[in-house]
Amino acid sequence: MPTLNMNTPVKTDMELQMSRDSCMVCGTSEFKAVCEKSGFIYVSCATCEVVRQFPYPEEYEIVEYYTDYKTKKAADSVYLTDAGFEIFKRDKELTFADLGLVGGFVGKSILDVGCGTGQFVQMMAQEAGSIKGIDISGECISLARDRNLNCESQDFLALNEVHDVITMWHIIEHTLKPRQYIEHAYQMLASGGLLLIETPVIGVISTGFGADWRYFMPVEHINLFTQNALFRVCTDAGFRIQSWIRFGSGNEAGTVPASNKRAMDLSAKKLGFGDTIAAVFVK
Ligand SMILES: [Zn+2]
Repeated sequence: MPTLNMNTPVKTDMELQMSRDSCMVCGTSEFKAVCEKSGFIYVSCATCEVVRQFPYPEEYEIVEYYTDYKTKKAADSVYLTDAGFEIFKRDKELTFADLGLVGGFVGKSILDVGCGTGQFVQMMAQEAGSIKGIDISGECISLARDRNLNCESQDFLALNEVHDVITMWHIIEHTLKPRQYIEHAYQMLASGGLLLIETPVIGVISTGFGADWRYFMPVEHINLFTQNALFRVCTDAGFRIQSWIRFGSGNEAGTVPASNKRAMDLSAKKLGFGDTIAAVFVK
């Protein structure tokens, strides 16, 4: 039976509400307003400048949101669909080339956190020694398993295994516990193991687009990192930064002429201010 520590003050409802609304990356409760999107508010942390949804959604709202995630996403994009697999694969191959990772997964044990319908598991099945995907979306996992991919519906923080590589493709911005995810990855990796993170990044592009920025997606994107804040959390956890790349001009395909998008994407990448970051961290 749990015992109550009488020295621990009981938090009032107001205090609980305030702690829920403090930055989950650095704990600060001071912030300034950034924008309103679809009836939700985004604020910027006064200390670490991570832009977060305010207030944060509740855990149950998040779980509920992902129940039919594939159906939700497939309504307006090829993301998570068979049609989108080649695009996913090409993007990842480009990112691996940029990060100096080509051929670096041969024989490795990989865990893909937030695997969705298993596209990365499918892509790496031949090259990796072993690869497993986990996701909280039952719908995505059942579609992955229909394709005989090694994917399971599991909570990453409850997992206790050793891997050579842990990947988090656009996951860290979705969780209420980004710090714990990164610390847990450190614990689970073999010595010299790699953590690969890709996530949207706050900067001149997010500022320029304002509320129209493609990554302001309430309930899904609840912590949008700055590059500094992401690096800080990872180095605090014990990781060393091996390589990183920023890419993406913030323009979705079809919203501007293809040649304009190409020129802007190239500029954002070459000059290092893209609105997405992919980084490799070493234990
Ligand atoms: Zn903060």
